Amino acid sequence: MTAIRQVAVIGAGMAGSSCAQALTLAGHTVQVFDKSRGPGGRMATRRLEWRDRDGEARTTGIDHGAVSVTARSAAFQAFVNQALQAGFLAEWKPLLAAGSLPVEDGAPLCVPVPDLPALCRHLLDGTAATWSFAVDSLQRRPLGWQVAADGLCHPTLFDAVVLALPPAQAAPLLKPHRPDWAGQAAATPMLPCWTLMGIADDPGPTDNAPQAALQRDLARPPTGELAWVLRNDSRPGRDRRPGQAHWVVHASAGWSQQHLEQSADWVQRQLQAALDRWLGRAVDWQHLVVHRWRYALPQAQTTTDGGCWWDADLGLGVCGDFLGGASVEGAWLSGLAMSAVLPQRADSRGR
Ligand SMILES: Cc1cc2nc3c(=O)[nH]c(=O)nc-3n(C[C@H](O)[C@H](O)[C@H](O)COP(=O)(O)OP(=O)(O)OC[C@H]3O[C@@H](n4cnc5c(N)ncnc54)[C@H](O)[C@@H]3O)c2cc1C
Repeated sequence: MTAIRQVAVIGAGMAGSSCAQALTLAGHTVQVFDKSRGPGGRMATRRLEWRDRDGEARTTGIDHGAVSVTARSAAFQAFVNQALQAGFLAEWKPLLAAGSLPVEDGAPLCVPVPDLPALCRHLLDGTAATWSFAVDSLQRRPLGWQVAADGLCHPTLFDAVVLALPPAQAAPLLKPHRPDWAGQAAATPMLPCWTLMGIADDPGPTDNAPQAALQRDLARPPTGELAWVLRNDSRPGRDRRPGQAHWVVHASAGWSQQHLEQSADWVQRQLQAALDRWLGRAVDWQHLVVHRWRYALPQAQTTTDGGCWWDADLGLGVCGDFLGGASVEGAWLSGLAMSAVLPQRADSRGR
C-alpha cells in the first residue's frame, strides 16, 4: 500500500470519532460521513417536545443511548481522566434503588455533558464531517475510493476508507470488496433493546416504602422485562425541573428480542406497565415515547482480531464495538487500533 493521505471514515459513533481524531492528529486528511444529523451513534440524546399540565410548550433532552461510560483499560482511563478534567465527562453517583442488582463491578460511572454525543463532538472538533449522508455505495476507482449516498458522490477520491458501523450495516458495503468480511459481519449477533423514555409528574419525597423507589436514580431490576431504570434528571448537567421526573427505561435483551417486531404502541404499554410494577404505583406521564435499538450491543463481550480489520492492498478498514469490545470503551479502543494500523502519511506534495 502506498502512502495514505485522504481517509474517509464512515460512521461518527465512538469508534469512528476516536479513529478520525487519531488519524487527523497523525497528519491525515479525514472526511467523516454519518447518516444521522450529528455525531454520537448509540451515544444518543433525544430531544423531546411536549405540553405540560398547564399547556406550556416544553422541551428537554433525554439520554436514550449508552447508560454510562466506564473505564477498565489504562488507555481508556487516561482518556476518561482528560475528558473529566476538560469537562466533557462528569462522574455520576446515582442512588441505587432497593432491590436492584449492583451496577457492573463498581467502577465509577461517567456521563458525557451536556449530552451523550458531547464526547464524539469533542473528538471530531476540527474534522470535516458530512451529516445526513447514508453511504450506500463504495466504488474502488484506479485513483482511489469513491463514496456515495443515494446517487450522490462525494467529490474526493479517498486513499483509504474506514467503516465504523454496526456489523449488519457494514456488511452490504463490504460485500463487493471483501465478501469474507461481509459474511463475518452479517453473522455477528447483536442484541436489540427497546427503550421507553418520557416526562412524568414527580410526587416528591415520601416516607412510604414502595414510593421511596421513586426517589432513586438508578435500578437494575433482577427479573422481568426491565434491564435498566434511570432518572435522566439525576444525571450531571441534565435538565432538572421541580415537579417533573425524567425517566429512561431499557428493556432486557431477551424481552426486546422476543418482541422486536411488535408495534411501538404495544411495546410502550408493556414497558409502562412494567415500570409501574417495579415502582409499586402508576406513573403519571406528561409525555412518553419508545425507541427500538435493533443493534444495541454485540452479543460477544470479548475482543477479536486485535480490535479492527485492515486490508492494506485495498485500503479498506473496519472498526467498531463488535471488534473492540461491547461498550463505549471497546468502540474507542477499536477506533484507535484502526488508526494505528493505517500507514503513516508520507509527504504528498503534488497530489
Ligand atoms: C440502549 C443502550 C445502552 C447502552 N449502555 C451502555 C453502557 O452503559 N455502557 C457502555 O459502555 N456501552 C453501552 N452501550 C453500547 C455503546 O453505546 C456502544 O458499544 C458504542 O457506542 C458503539 O459505538 P460504535 O462507534 O461502534 O457504533 P455506533 O455508535 O453505532 O456508531 C455507528 C455510526 O454509524 C452511522 N451509520 C450507520 N450506517 C451508516 C451508513 N450507511 N452511512 C453513514 N453512517 C452510518 C450511525 O448513524 C452511527 O452514528 C449501550 C447501547 C445502547 C443502544
